[in-house]
Amino acid sequence: MKYSKATLYGFLLSTAPSTVYASDPTGLYVLFVGFPAILLAITNIFIATKSPKYALILSVFLTCSLYFLIIWSSDVGYMDREGGYLILSCLLVGVSIAIAFINIMNKKQESWRPNYNWICSVCGVTNKKDTVKCNNCGNEI
Ligand SMILES: [Zn+2]
Repeated sequence: MKYSKATLYGFLLSTAPSTVYASDPTGLYVLFVGFPAILLAITNIFIATKSPKYALILSVFLTCSLYFLIIWSSDVGYMDREGGYLILSCLLVGVSIAIAFINIMNKKQESWRPNYNWICSVCGVTNKKDTVKCNNCGNEI
C-alpha cells in the first residue's frame, strides 16, 4: 500500500493534537507529576540507606517542591482527583528522613568506639579497643 505525503502529514496532524491535548489531562498529570514525585521519593529512600546526610539535604528540596506542587495542584483541581500520588510521596519522603536519622545515629555510635586499647580512669584495668565501657567496673571511656 502506498500513501502520499499529504495523507501522511494529514494523518500526523490529525492524531498528534488529540494525544497531546487529551480531553482529560489527568493522565498527563499522573505521568509527569504524580509518578515522578513517587519515583524521586523512593530514590531518596535508597540514598538514605547509603549516604543519609545527602538524603536529608535532598529531602529538604523534595519537601519544598512537594509543598509548591500540592498548592498548585489544589488550585488547578488535581488534588481532589489524583492527590494521592503527592500525599504518598510526602509519606515516602518522611520515611526516608526517618531512615536517614537512624543511619546517622548508628554511624555516630560506631565512630565513638575507640580504635586503641585504653586504660580505665577509675580502676586502671586495660580494656580492648572497640569497647566503650570498662569490662571491670562499667565505667565509660
Ligand atoms: Zn574500670
